Amino acid sequence: MLGSVNSVESLGTVDGPGIRAVIFLNGCSLRCKYCHNPETWIMQEKNYEPSSLVEKVIRYKPYFNHGGGVTFSGGEPLLQPEFLIECSRLFKENGINVALDTAGAGIGHYEEILKYTDLIIFDVKDVTKERFFDLTGGNIENTWQFLDIARKMNSKFWIRQVIIPGVNDTFAYMEELDKYIKDHINIDNVERVEFLPYHKLGTEKYEKLHIFNPYQEKEAMDATKCKELYDYFISIFKE
Ligand code: SF4
Repeated sequence: MLGSVNSVESLGTVDGPGIRAVIFLNGCSLRCKYCHNPETWIMQEKNYEPSSLVEKVIRYKPYFNHGGGVTFSGGEPLLQPEFLIECSRLFKENGINVALDTAGAGIGHYEEILKYTDLIIFDVKDVTKERFFDLTGGNIENTWQFLDIARKMNSKFWIRQVIIPGVNDTFAYMEELDKYIKDHINIDNVERVEFLPYHKLGTEKYEKLHIFNPYQEKEAMDATKCKELYDYFISIFKE
């Protein structure tokens, strides 16, 4: 079995607890307007056996302190379920913590995947069907299937929300987000909620890849306003 791996970042500190190797898998069915990894959208040539990927990453194990380990990111790692399951199984067999950075937009096998997943880092996108489609081109209902199984399996979550000026930077959206999370996820299992202010760091990639950038003209999110929204969100989320 082979998987399509875009890249491996050896010592990441932002995608899950502790120091982590971040494995970016190719392929994504969404087209988020703010995506800063458009190079991962297309499923490229398959280039790794699970055992060779695990062997490469395991060399970093001495650095995986403070709860560190590996994080599968992308792209959408759920689009390569067999490869993801086998790699995760091998990592767990070697005592390595496994996190999964996902939008929940996969193609099934979720129970098996989550059996070997210690933490889901869930990227919400948007909370209504219409706006989710407008932002990503995808169907929000697909993500609910993933969330339903994660709830049944009692999976731990970190929630991520990108805050975009003129799109979701309002107190009203904070209230919608609060309700959405509580409707779909067991909040006792939510270890952290992160807001990521929209930034322009992916802009050059679109130019290089000759891909239309729908947010070419959009300003970056103001960090102070993002923090104000976060504080408000946390105040209602804890109620
Ligand atoms: S899900 Fe992630 S990789 Fe896919 S388009 Fe959205 S931001 Fe990009």
